[in-house]
Order: sequence, then C-alpha cells, then structure tokens
Amino acid sequence: MLRSLKLTALRLLRGGGVFELVAASRWRRQRLLILCYHGTSLDDEHLWRSALYITPETLRERLASLKHGGYAVLPLGEALERLRAQTLPARSVVLTFDDGTYDFYSQARPLLQEFGFPATVYLTTYYALCERPVFNLICSYMLWKRRGQVMTDAREIGLEGPLDLRSETGRHRVVRSLLDFAEREKMTGLQKDDLAGHLASFLGIDYASLKAKRILQIMNPAEVRDASRGGVDFQLHTHRHRTPEDEALFRQEIQDNQAKILALASSRAVHFCYPGGVYRPAFLPWLQAEQIVSATTCDAGLCTRQSESLLLPRFIDSQTRTQVEFESWAAGVGDMLAFRRSATQNYVPRD
Ligand SMILES: [Zn+2]
Repeated sequence: MLRSLKLTALRLLRGGGVFELVAASRWRRQRLLILCYHGTSLDDEHLWRSALYITPETLRERLASLKHGGYAVLPLGEALERLRAQTLPARSVVLTFDDGTYDFYSQARPLLQEFGFPATVYLTTYYALCERPVFNLICSYMLWKRRGQVMTDAREIGLEGPLDLRSETGRHRVVRSLLDFAEREKMTGLQKDDLAGHLASFLGIDYASLKAKRILQIMNPAEVRDASRGGVDFQLHTHRHRTPEDEALFRQEIQDNQAKILALASSRAVHFCYPGGVYRPAFLPWLQAEQIVSATTCDAGLCTRQSESLLLPRFIDSQTRTQVEFESWAAGVGDMLAFRRSATQNYVPRD
C-alpha cells in the first residue's frame, strides 16, 4: 500500500515536471549517482532473486532512459576526481556491477557497448579462477527450481529429515544445512561442486547443462581479459567475497584480489566495494593502509563532495525497481525522498 502510494506520488511528480527540474538543478550537478547492479539474467534468475537480478530488457530500458535524459555516464575514477574538484558535468552517473558474473560478460557488456557507456566491475576473484558455479547460490537456485516439493529422505546428500522446499524459509534452511555440512567436512571448492552435483541429481536437475549455461558463475580469466581490453574497469571486491574482522586477514583479501586483478586486467585496482554491503568502522583504516582510493556501500544516496570516500552510497537497481523509481533516482528526487538509506545485500528469505 505504502509502496503503491509512493509510486503514484512519483508519477505525479514526474508528470508535473519536477524530475526534470531537479535533474537540471545546481543541487543535482554537485552530486554523483553511482548505480549498483548485480546479475543480468541469462534465464530466469530474476524470478529467483529479483533484488539481485535484472533482465536484459529492463537493463536496456534503464540505459536508454539515461541516454535520452541527457545523463553523463562517467568512468568511476574520473567521476570521483571531478566530484572532489567540483567539475562534474550535469546529471552525472556511474555504472557499477558487483561480483563479475558471466552474465555481465554475455548480457550487460554488449548493451553497455551499444550505448557507449563505461562501467566498473567489482570482481571477486576466487570463483573467477575456479570456473564453477558459486556454491551457495547454485544450491539456492536449484532448490527454488523445485519449489513446492517436500523431499522425504535426503540422506544421500548428507542431510537429515524431510526437506520442505515449499517456502523460501524452508529452502534457505536447506542451503544453510548444505553450507554447514560442507564446512564440517572441510570441503574444497571442487568437493563443494561435487556436492552441488549430487544435489542436482537428487532434485532431478541436469547439472551439466546448468554449468554449460554458466548460470551463477563468475567470468573466467579469458573473459576478464577480453572485457578489460574492451574498456571494462575491474576493481576490488575481495578475493573470496568476505570481509574478515581480523586486520591481517582482511588486508590479505584485498591484496590477493588486487594481485589477481593485476594479472588478469593489467591494472592496479584501487577502488573497493564492500561484499554484501557490509562495513564496519574498523575497516576504514585498513583500507587506507592498503591505499584504497574509494569504497562503495549498498546504502542508498547520491555522493556529495563531503561524502566519506570509503563509504560512498549507491542506488541498487534490480528487477524489483520500477522505471519511475529508477528515473526518480537518476534525477535526484529519489535521494530527496529517501527515508531508509542503510542497506546490505545480506539475503533474508521472505515468505
Ligand atoms: Zn558481491
């Protein structure tokens, strides 16, 4: 109800020319919008996690509206320098994609090329090098494929009791048990992939064809190299998509990630994005010690000259957003009206 009221209000403001007024204002010119995307569906991933995925059609609609709205889509590094120097062009926007999934390479990248827009990919490198689906995500996705079912005996995949796949909470519980099982057994990446394969055959899913489609896989080294040569900017997202609370381990994650990106994309990455949008005050001095220039969160907002460089807000776009919501953020109206800003991408099942 609240949401539909909000959307109606936004449509009225757009119709009344308020979006255009704000977009053309001095206020907006002093601000930078960093957009955050995750996956661009290869198949039906947006139906599984609509807050994480966008369809190629919707992404095209977004990029077209930036083009037609006269937005200046800038490379991340340049945009941040110009934000500080107060030389941003009107309607500045930066496009960022988290994780570096294969679907960025095959779906989003051609669209960006078509529109001539630069983009930054915050690449997590562990799965880029092992070329297998991300374990927890592929398990969740396959269980979702069998939503509505109750599996009575799951001993062959190492789990107790019936598996209730009828609700998101039930499916999440199964993923949790699989993760615990893999951790207890101290499984390697390869063994976890075998376990995902067992789960697939238990559910009657063709794992080989899922893998061949490259669903929930990170770009492989050849794809990262190719995208980098084509102008995609690769930046930091930790090697294993985690932020340990121990300084040495945290900095090791950054260093490993940086070394792999340097080897793949031949550039020293100095911009960081917090995995899952999770940050703690203690991380800031550690990032400074690693000479990190900027860090982005998942908190909603426009960046100003006063924004803390290591806590830059973004607007997360996905299939759950409507076009008018997107346009309200591009114009700046969304930022003015935002009442809930802090966010993480931590997955919470909702039934
Ligand atoms: Zn991520």
